[in-house]
Amino acid sequence: MGFKEVMINSMPSPLVKVFARPYVAGQGVDSGIDTAKRLYHEKRLYSTIDLLGEEIKEKDEIEKNVQIYYELIEKLGKQEFASISLKPTQLGVYRENGIIYGEDFCYENIKGIVERANAYSIHVTIDMENHPFTDLTLRIFKALRDEFENVGTVLQSRLYRTKKDILELPANKMCKIRTCIGIYKEPPEVAIQDKRKMKEKLFEYMVLLIERGHYPEIATHDEKLIERCIEYLDKNNIPKERYEFQMLMGVPRDKMQRKIIERGNIMRLYVPFAEKWKYAIAYCKRRLAANPMMGAYVIKNLFGKTTGR
Ligand SMILES: Cc1cc2nc3c(=O)[nH]c(=O)nc-3n(C[C@H](O)[C@H](O)[C@H](O)COP(=O)(O)OP(=O)(O)OC[C@H]3O[C@@H](n4cnc5c(N)ncnc54)[C@H](O)[C@@H]3O)c2cc1C
Repeated sequence: MGFKEVMINSMPSPLVKVFARPYVAGQGVDSGIDTAKRLYHEKRLYSTIDLLGEEIKEKDEIEKNVQIYYELIEKLGKQEFASISLKPTQLGVYRENGIIYGEDFCYENIKGIVERANAYSIHVTIDMENHPFTDLTLRIFKALRDEFENVGTVLQSRLYRTKKDILELPANKMCKIRTCIGIYKEPPEVAIQDKRKMKEKLFEYMVLLIERGHYPEIATHDEKLIERCIEYLDKNNIPKERYEFQMLMGVPRDKMQRKIIERGNIMRLYVPFAEKWKYAIAYCKRRLAANPMMGAYVIKNLFGKTTGR
């Protein structure tokens, strides 16, 4: 663990809570739904609502998470402004001494959620966690995609394996794939270490997904990279229904988001809510470690000096 991670991990929770405010909708299902509704009605922003929490081993807590997702789906009902996102390690799998446990349990839990969401045409994205979980996540995704149209997943451009993973997606089925650089710090044996190269790959994989008939969800806040994607998509007359853009709620990108919406594209925000604050705190610590500038943005926001970006 580096100095930066040590500093962030030792931050007191009340302070992290201050940092969390712009990035987390609040506590409870209703906070996620209310935020998503507000974003849609006020700014025409779509959402993907996510229950915070990962690396959970306790069976009763996992079962509670499944119930929370059921409640979220029932309360959302049929609508167009929100999809949902979930993580395998909050729904039944965990890793201990290099061994992964609970795949079948996790599959059944995610299947139950996808099945219920399908009844309301709600899309479900299976988030991608760190690389020991990539194979498992893709296995679960592919098994479910066989049966359901409303399920997608995430591929991280920093991983060397990602091109192969794209080529191995079901060829005869359109897959919605969130394409991002990846938030987890990965070892050099499996991942690119240079951020510029990760971004180069993100562009390359977005093109490959389009060429293979899939639906990339371009998840980045890098405005130059977004412009580059737009240039490619326009030049190649790719219909607006073939892709969308995604960002994290709280990252100040108002101007770019408006531009994307005015072009007629879907601009979707990741809207996490917590049942327990300790999970929101873990999420924010990871974001802080990945992007220490987050602190500066929060302080600017607190004092009303947003950049308007
Ligand atoms: C909708 C969505 C879903 C995601 N899902 C996953 C997933 O399932 N698995 C996974 O591994 N990763 C996921 N990520 C994270 C992603 O992989 C990146 O870590 C994250 O988006 C930052 O990369 P970037 O391309 O924006 O580039 P960066 O270079 O990191 O960011 C570009 C600029 O955006 C701003 N910025 C970025 N993040 C923040 C922040 N938190 N606070 C303030 N400013 C910020 C900064 O100005 C920064 O310079 C997701 C991201 C999004 C947007």
